[in-house]
Amino acid sequence: MAAMTTRSCPCGLPDPYEKCCGRFHSGAASAPTAEALMRSRYSAFVRLDAGYLLRTWHPGTRPERLDLDPGTRWTGLEILGTGDGSAFHSAGTVTFRASYRGGSLHERSRFERVDGAWVYVDGDVLG
Ligand SMILES: [Zn+2]
Repeated sequence: MAAMTTRSCPCGLPDPYEKCCGRFHSGAASAPTAEALMRSRYSAFVRLDAGYLLRTWHPGTRPERLDLDPGTRWTGLEILGTGDGSAFHSAGTVTFRASYRGGSLHERSRFERVDGAWVYVDGDVLG
């Protein structure tokens, strides 16, 4: 896993944040695939960017507000599998493990396109 001292993006890809998820967080670009959106949402959790998380949440399942715990120490994201969710699909799933100090979250998330942009719908927490 990427060490916290490297300048690679929090999502685990080797590119610097500004050239990776930062482009999506700033609105300069939108995530082309469900996996890219998933990665950018993980990076938003790391950076406590609740606004981005709400913007990329399906309007039908989006919470009214989101309180992120600044005490959570996210330590890495592992993409375990994807289903559809490419530039040519309108829905897709991403299975991942997001690790934090003291535990991890293993989930299969569902994504859809709304007005062309990928959004998070909901997810099943796996064992
Ligand atoms: Zn990234």
